[in-house]
Amino acid sequence: MSTFPDSVTLFQPHIALFPSAGMGHLTPFLRLASMLLSHNCKVTLITTKSTVSLAESTCISSFLSTHPEINHIEFQVPPMEPSNSTSDDPFFIQFEATSRSSHLIHPLISSLTPPISAIFSDFVVLSGVNKVASVLGVPNYTVSTTSVKFLSLMAYLPIILTSEYSTKLSDHNCTEIEIPGLTPLPISSFPPPFFNPNHIFTATLVENARALKDCKGILMNSFDFFENETLSAINSLSYLPPILPIGPLQAYELKKDQIQRRYLPWLNNQPEGSVVFVSFGSRTAMSKDQIRELRDGLEKSGYRFLWLLKTKKVDKDDKEDVEDLLSISFIERTKEKGMVLKEWVNQQEILGHPAIGGFVNHCGWNSVMEAAQRGIPMLAWPQHGDQRVNAEVLEKAGLGMWDRTWGWGGQRLVKQGEIQTKVFQLMTDEKLKRSAKKVGEEARKATAGNGGSSTKTILEVIELLKQNK
Ligand code: UDP
Ligand code: UDP
Ligand code: UDP
Repeated sequence: MSTFPDSVTLFQPHIALFPSAGMGHLTPFLRLASMLLSHNCKVTLITTKSTVSLAESTCISSFLSTHPEINHIEFQVPPMEPSNSTSDDPFFIQFEATSRSSHLIHPLISSLTPPISAIFSDFVVLSGVNKVASVLGVPNYTVSTTSVKFLSLMAYLPIILTSEYSTKLSDHNCTEIEIPGLTPLPISSFPPPFFNPNHIFTATLVENARALKDCKGILMNSFDFFENETLSAINSLSYLPPILPIGPLQAYELKKDQIQRRYLPWLNNQPEGSVVFVSFGSRTAMSKDQIRELRDGLEKSGYRFLWLLKTKKVDKDDKEDVEDLLSISFIERTKEKGMVLKEWVNQQEILGHPAIGGFVNHCGWNSVMEAAQRGIPMLAWPQHGDQRVNAEVLEKAGLGMWDRTWGWGGQRLVKQGEIQTKVFQLMTDEKLKRSAKKVGEEARKATAGNGGSSTKTILEVIELLKQNK
């Protein structure tokens, strides 16, 4: 018998990860990178040369110093002419610029040793990266940073934007849209730019949606139990590659975490399940009027709260004082019961703290998965983009509730009384607590050991890569 080890089992897949702009995109990629390392893959991480937020650059450097074995490539994205962009959102401009130049990563990864076995890339760079992958003869997997349901909507966009559908969409009597295999989608949950096929946001997504069929598979930060119906429906659609739920993606540990955590001593002193955690993610700022209504609604609810406040989209610009924004008297009155922060926190760690009993959130998909993993009931307050569709998903799964009349972010001023009522419901609804707890149990099952559905899925993908497939 040969004493040589089997070359197939020794082959270590080398995966190039290519996220898009913003913490909402970087975070799932780093979680995936950490998971791939733990399964003995070699990882190359491609990040854009300058990031939009400070949070992104801090996070990348802490992650790389914890994992020096990762090969890091900085991709200098050619800047966009400001006049070419229809948006003034810096994250959006970066995502558009990265999308347009994604094919330029070819020379950066074509001569790596060992050669790469696959690319895992963001949806927004899909069309360019498919071409690179095809030249290199390796598979490209898309890593989706949204719900399966919103992905289905994006995948169907090229058809939705045909003239027949556009006429339907502009008909005021039309309230829902049919997408094959899926329950009808309320038009009110459509991101407003989707009504305009010429909007650069829509145009970019359509181009990548067309490229979906040519990638090897779509890795979803979701799990069977959470989006069961949508997953069964979408997997039978011929215009899509396999949909591979591998979530909730797990948090990673850092050797040197730069977060201050001044909230921990306060949180440690609060009774179990008593605190409402309020956070609208990494890049959603509310108007000052809305912030004041939220402040008064929270105070009137009488519940303890930990509130992560943002007044600017980009963290570097967020310089206003909490006292100036909310008034010194509010801070004085609520100092026993509440804490307001205006800094980067470890959100997933806060959600895992026993004192947290409810989560008021904008439904960024990472936040939804973080709450799902811990079974924390959510009051969804979607603001932009995919968030209303995500709110429908989490409500259906039993993780939370929302009030559809609150509209998109900034559409109308949601009054303190409405907020007070909903926060009260969030913290007292025993049925919701039970169903959210069940979601947490199912999430943990999905990611458990080798038997969990999400774990099995990622292991199968890695196995294919080991066999050079
Ligand atoms: N986050 C965090 N600390 C903060 C703000 C945000 O850890 O101070 C994390 C949050 O846990 C999530 C990500 O940043 O993982 C934000 O992504 P999400 O999809 O929830 O929303 P987005 O910021 O993209 O709107
Ligand atoms: N968007 C978002 N968060 C923000 C700002 C914008 O998710 O803080 C979304 C917005 O809903 C839209 C896309 O980003 O889906 C493009 O934004 P833009 O400002 O170009 O859209 P518009 O102003 O035309 O609605
Ligand atoms: N999207 C993406 N990459 C990007 C920007 C957007 O894949 O860089 C997709 C993604 O599915 C996202 C949706 O477009 O959920 C809506 O984008 P938006 O900017 O509104 O939200 P966000 O990027 O914060 O998720």
